[in-house]
Amino acid sequence: MKRKGRRNRQDYRMRSAMIDGCYDSRHWEYDHHLIPPISSSVAFRLSSLHRGEEGFARFGEGEDICPETIFVYDRLDDPLRGMLEEKLAYAEGGEVAVSFASGMSAISAALGVLTKQTDEVIAHNMLYGCTYSLLSHWLPRYGIQTKFVDLKSTSALNSALSEKTKVVYLETPVNPTLDLIDIGAIKNWLGDINKDRAEDRKVLLVVDNTFATPYCQRPLSLGADLVVHSLTKNIAGFGTDMGGAVIGPAKYLRDLLLYRKDFGGVLSPKSAWPILVYGLPTLAARMVNQQKSAQHIARFLESHPLVKRVLYPGLKSFPQWELAQSQMMSPDGKFSPGSVLYFELDSEKFTDAPKAVEFFIDYLANNSRCITLAVSLGQVRTLIEAPYSMTHSSLPAEFKNSIGVSTCGLRLSLGLEDWHDIENDLEVALGRTADLITSPGCAVHP
Ligand SMILES: *Cc1c(COP(=O)(O)O)cnc(C)c1O
Repeated sequence: MKRKGRRNRQDYRMRSAMIDGCYDSRHWEYDHHLIPPISSSVAFRLSSLHRGEEGFARFGEGEDICPETIFVYDRLDDPLRGMLEEKLAYAEGGEVAVSFASGMSAISAALGVLTKQTDEVIAHNMLYGCTYSLLSHWLPRYGIQTKFVDLKSTSALNSALSEKTKVVYLETPVNPTLDLIDIGAIKNWLGDINKDRAEDRKVLLVVDNTFATPYCQRPLSLGADLVVHSLTKNIAGFGTDMGGAVIGPAKYLRDLLLYRKDFGGVLSPKSAWPILVYGLPTLAARMVNQQKSAQHIARFLESHPLVKRVLYPGLKSFPQWELAQSQMMSPDGKFSPGSVLYFELDSEKFTDAPKAVEFFIDYLANNSRCITLAVSLGQVRTLIEAPYSMTHSSLPAEFKNSIGVSTCGLRLSLGLEDWHDIENDLEVALGRTADLITSPGCAVHP
């Protein structure tokens, strides 16, 4: 319930808006709790047949048509999830958000509502593994083909384009090398193409903003048509809950809700609650701190003799440093290069580099407190993994080599520990790995 006389949310910065004043909602009439209760009700009591009829007839209609949501059944709509969606839409600068059970169910829904049989997708050649599998394995069964190209190159886009193209799909920064794709440049390219296309044949841009989070980058403002998220990562932030969201203009609301109703990837209100109450209100504070650590650690690694290269959009040495500065920005205009970095041990220092990398990772896994060997990212704990043999293991070796994912490469997702301690854990592990160079019997250069 909106209390009369309150200042508008728009008058506040994102960081404050995510904490205060966002729990008044068209989705729930309560006002006494500081924290919204966890709603847990599969069905909702209806006061009359008329209301029941309206609940079904009005499902999926936006605020303009149906100011009051009529709750009927949890898979259709839930008040707490509705509050989370309002807040997510606000954070990304979109008109509406629809939440899902996981990032993958959100991505399936975004592609599901935008495409139909014989349509084509152009996707960047490096994607989250399950997104790649969805596009290359499942969607072709429904007659939707994807061309995977390097979206950093306009000529690659031009040669992939056809009359059937309906969606351009990308992630930026790209996992795990942190390559950036210029969203504005793709939007300009699409502008040229779309001016000659009928409304229903316009090519639409979908951006997975999971790595950056809306704190670091808001693709809708740069020209994306829809943004998708794995809430499981930095938005939920504590590593306790999975979720996903699609955010964009109100014209997609109905289809997204109907898709969710029928395919069923519904976010449980019990998972929506921690994301609403812990995740979003702390997002800005966590990102600021995690980024600060990423910056310190990136510089430390860059200066270490055993490290061959560090890829982090916050480093001056980053190949796309200028694009990083214009594209990755907090809502207050501060440069915000994110909390994930990639670095490579210098294989030339070792005769058996894979063994040295394994030693380094195992040493961290068993001896360090601040760095945990685990997949996923965007948690309060700092996580490390080896993309070549772990998250990206299913990709062909030649392809990994061509995009710069090496057997010596590691992805580090900075958490909230004190960066001195993270640095110290890395320094000790690198020191022990360096000992391999001189230790007898070890397959390394003298
Ligand atoms: C984790 C992740 C996904 C998938 O999200 P889930 O919540 O695990 O389904 C999609 N895209 C990116 C970039 C991710 O990191």
